[in-house]
Formats: sequence, structure tokens, C-alpha cells
Amino acid sequence: MTDSVKYVLDETRIPKSWYNLQADLPKPLPPVLHPGTHKPVGPDDLAPLFPMDLILQEVTQEREIPIPEPVRDVYRQWRPSPLYRARRLEKALGTPARIYYKYEGVSPSGSHKPNTAVPQAFYNKQAGVKKLTTETGAGQWGSSLAFAGAVFGLAVDVYMVRVSYDQKPYRRALMETYGARCVPSPSNETQSGRAILAQRNDHPGSLGIAISEAVEMAAQREDTKYALGSVLNHVLLHQTVVGQEAMAQMEMANDYPDVIVGCTGGGSNFAGIVFPFLGAQLRGGKKVRIVAVEPAACPSLTRGKYAFDFGDTGHLTPLVKMHTLGSTFTPPGFHAGGLRYHGMAPMVSHIKELGLIEAVAYHQTKCFDAGVMFARSEGILPAPEANHAVKGAIEEALKCKEEGVSRAILFNLCGHGHFDMQAYMDYFAGRLTDQEYDEAELAMALAGLPSVKEAA
Ligand SMILES: *Cc1c(COP(=O)(O)O)cnc(C)c1O
Repeated sequence: MTDSVKYVLDETRIPKSWYNLQADLPKPLPPVLHPGTHKPVGPDDLAPLFPMDLILQEVTQEREIPIPEPVRDVYRQWRPSPLYRARRLEKALGTPARIYYKYEGVSPSGSHKPNTAVPQAFYNKQAGVKKLTTETGAGQWGSSLAFAGAVFGLAVDVYMVRVSYDQKPYRRALMETYGARCVPSPSNETQSGRAILAQRNDHPGSLGIAISEAVEMAAQREDTKYALGSVLNHVLLHQTVVGQEAMAQMEMANDYPDVIVGCTGGGSNFAGIVFPFLGAQLRGGKKVRIVAVEPAACPSLTRGKYAFDFGDTGHLTPLVKMHTLGSTFTPPGFHAGGLRYHGMAPMVSHIKELGLIEAVAYHQTKCFDAGVMFARSEGILPAPEANHAVKGAIEEALKCKEEGVSRAILFNLCGHGHFDMQAYMDYFAGRLTDQEYDEAELAMALAGLPSVKEAA
């Protein structure tokens, strides 16, 4: 048998709770600090930005957080998502490895992001919020929140990184179709945006800047809150539906992953597939090798410093301990816009420090090589971000071939690339280049990290 195999769960198998890795961590997460006092923040400090339900999910140590039924009802539209055995890819590679991928491109917006957009919109609606503000890179998160806003009747304002706004006009059209307002960032609407434009009028933008703009707008209004598409504990928590389903599907396949691979921008799709397996390992289950793949042009996990830093460029957010390139670092404008973030989720950073995961970085052209090979064998065209996971999985499969051993490799195919065809056109035209980040700028951004005295 060489054709692809699909493992499908019925709707009753949509997880009933999210899995919280904090319950099983061998060492607790460092606290989140107030940017002024450097003292740990309390729930009230975050209340202007988030509804209390989400703030509590940020800090809870409970292992299982029940998923509200109205959220499961929306999940039902595309969950459980399929898991495939990539037999045609295995054959093309001539590898003895068993390659599996969980496909999150079946959601309405085409990625894993609605897994958290839907509960975030739900809890905000319940709290009486009228409008959500947010940032978006490639537009995946913006369109996911726009979809969730449409479902629960919330207005959504999206600050979209300028370079992506220009590169990906169809994502913007999708957000507008769902009823959201999309503003290129840096914009003239906020102090943070105006300050950046005053320095450089044609600034390409960054996720860090767009976050500042969205946070600033939310902080000013009683009926408006802010939603973040990655990085925060509650976002990673919501994504664990992916890994929980994958566990059940690997069981259907009568297999268990030896290696799990995910791409990391802010860390949410990676956490989604990894945390349930890692939790099982930490509770005494089978050990899994876990590989995070990031872009060489924005390598927070492999080249960043593990330090307290701001989540945004305008320094409006609390300080979190994470792998960071510095909040003022502007990554080059490569095509995987969803991976252009200066930091990494504190939880993913923490487990990297604990030695529970590995990280590698690849340049974009090598990732597109892998994505095109994947499309030609499996038929699904991955998002440029997902190409990093495909590349990581292929590398693992080739290692199996070299060593002559069969291992089970599971990766998260976190989204399709149907809105990213310009990137593929550039790739085929030979116009895709591997940009290096500016070493001097990185050094400057790292030198500018806030100095925090840590309790021993
Ligand atoms: C947003 C996005 C990413 C990066 O974000 P993570 O939080 O690291 O998952 C990766 N892939 C796709 C398809 C995305 O939309």
C-alpha cells in the first residue's frame, strides 16, 4: 500500500477540555512582570486588555480546562481535523520513516488559529465586550479573529503589518468579507504608530509594532479589548485540541510518534500538537523527541536571548521571560509573515531551557523546496510558515533513511497556502531570496533589553 491514509474521528471525539501543560511542568514558569515596578502582575493589571476568564486561564495550574459547549459547537464545523499518513511523500523520499501529519488547513480561515480565536471571541462576548483589536502578520490570525467576531457578533479592528498588507491583499479582503476593519501598521491612528512613522515614513512594520497599536486602542476604551493570536499561555492552551486529537488518531493508526515537529512563530501551533504528548511523557509515558523549526531570518529560539522582554515594540505590554531577539528588532520581510515575531511563547521558551525540546532554523528557499515536494506528493499546498515544519519532518525522514531505521514522525501542517500564491510564484520565478537579518540591529536590540533583577 503506497497511497495516503486518512484517520478520521467523529464529532463526539472533539476534546471536552483543553490540556494545561503548567500542571505537569517539572519547574514552574517565571512570573509575568509589571513593566514599571518589575513586580509580578496580578489579574487586575491585565483586566483592561482581557476578560477575566482568559486571565485566569493564563495562570491556572489545573490540568484540564473544560471547553464551553458553544465553543465546541463552533469547533464542530471543522473539528476533529484529519490526520494523514504521508505514504506518497515517504515513497518520494525513499525513507523507511512513517510520516504522519495533522492537517489544520480545514478550518474556515485555513489554519489552526480559529482554535483560539473562537474561545477568545466567546469569552469576550460573555464579558459584554463590543469590539476586539488585534495585530496580524500574514493575515492568518486577523482573518481567524474576524471569522470568530462574525460568529459571536463582535466588531474586530486588525492592525496588519505593512509589508504583508502589501504582499497579501487577498487576506485583507477575507477579513473585510467577515466584517473586520483592516489597517496597515504602523498607522497614523495610534501614538505608537505615529512614533515609528516619524522615524521612518516607509517602515515595513513588524508584529511588535502592530501589537503596540492594537493594545493602545484597546487600553483606551471600556467596551474594547485586545486579542493575541499566539505567545500567551491561554492561546497555547486552546491549541491543545490539536495534539489531543492527534493522540487518539495515532492510536487508530496503532502507532506512537518517536519525533514531533512543528514550526514556531509565537509557538502556538507547535504547542498545540506537542503539549499533550509532552504532558504524557512528563507523567511517566513514552519519551518523544520534539523539534521546533524556525526561520533563519528570525531565529528567536536558536539565536535569541532567554530574558525578560516586552511583547511589543512600543513597550505597552508586561515583561515576560522568553527567547527574544529584542522588542525593537525588525525581521527582514520574508514570506512566512506569521513567523516574523521577535519573541517566543514563555511556555515554549521554558521547556526549551529545561531541555525538553530541540530547535533548528532554516532559510525560506529550503523550506519552499520542501513545501513544493510535499504538494507534489500529498496534494496539499502548505502555508509558507507550515513549510518550515515540512522541511523539519523531511530532514528527520532523511535521517531515518541514512540510518536505515524506521521512526514515526508526526508534524503539524498548520495551514494551507492558498492565500500565499505570490510567494510560490516568486519561488518559481527564482525571486525568493534568503535574507540575513542585520547583525548590528540584533546586537542593538539585545543591548536594549530591559534590565530586570531576578529573584534567586
Ligand atoms: C500564525 C501562523 C503560524 C505562526 O504562529 P504560531 O503561534 O507559532 O503557530 C504558523 N503557521 C501558520 C499557518 C500560521 O497561521
